[in-house]
Amino acid sequence: MHLDMIDLEIIRILQSNARTPVLEISKKLGLSRPTIKSRIDKLREEGVIKKFTIVIDRDAVVKNILLLLRMKIDDNRILESLKDEEEIIEIYETMNEKNIVCKAVVRDIDELREFMDKLNKMGVKEVESSIVLKTLKEEHEADIGPEIGITVECEYCGKEITGTPYKFKIYNKEHYLCCPVCLKSYKKKMSYAKN
Ligand SMILES: [Zn+2]
Repeated sequence: MHLDMIDLEIIRILQSNARTPVLEISKKLGLSRPTIKSRIDKLREEGVIKKFTIVIDRDAVVKNILLLLRMKIDDNRILESLKDEEEIIEIYETMNEKNIVCKAVVRDIDELREFMDKLNKMGVKEVESSIVLKTLKEEHEADIGPEIGITVECEYCGKEITGTPYKFKIYNKEHYLCCPVCLKSYKKKMSYAKN
């Protein structure tokens, strides 16, 4: 799918608050409501926006022991069944000796014990677990931009940016350009617009 700056802006706004009304987005971006609406619909249809989600306060829910687990898993079947465990909320593969890192939530110490038992029975060996005492930062916004394979057009010449884009930030907004020449011209254009 071909995304442009407007799409990126819409995604950024929705990432910080998925319930931002279309009207507010349209005002922010200076575009009509139907335009924003159809863009959001398209982003959803194309699968760029997978789902609108919420972030809950863990302390406000019943399951409130957060666990970080590191383990060594070579067997794909074990990895697959790990994905089905409801306690596990995130799984990452890493380059370490203990190649799998998970985040899990359990209700209390009893459930924690049962969960560790279950992992053991599944064949998970060498588990290293830590109970999280305090969450210091939790971001749910993926950093999106041309770097992650989204196609973006150069804001100066309109050409599709293939390599690493040249970035230029003004008024808190990031702009993407295809080459140093476009970057220079665009900066010039923006500085005229400012005056
Ligand atoms: Zn260009």
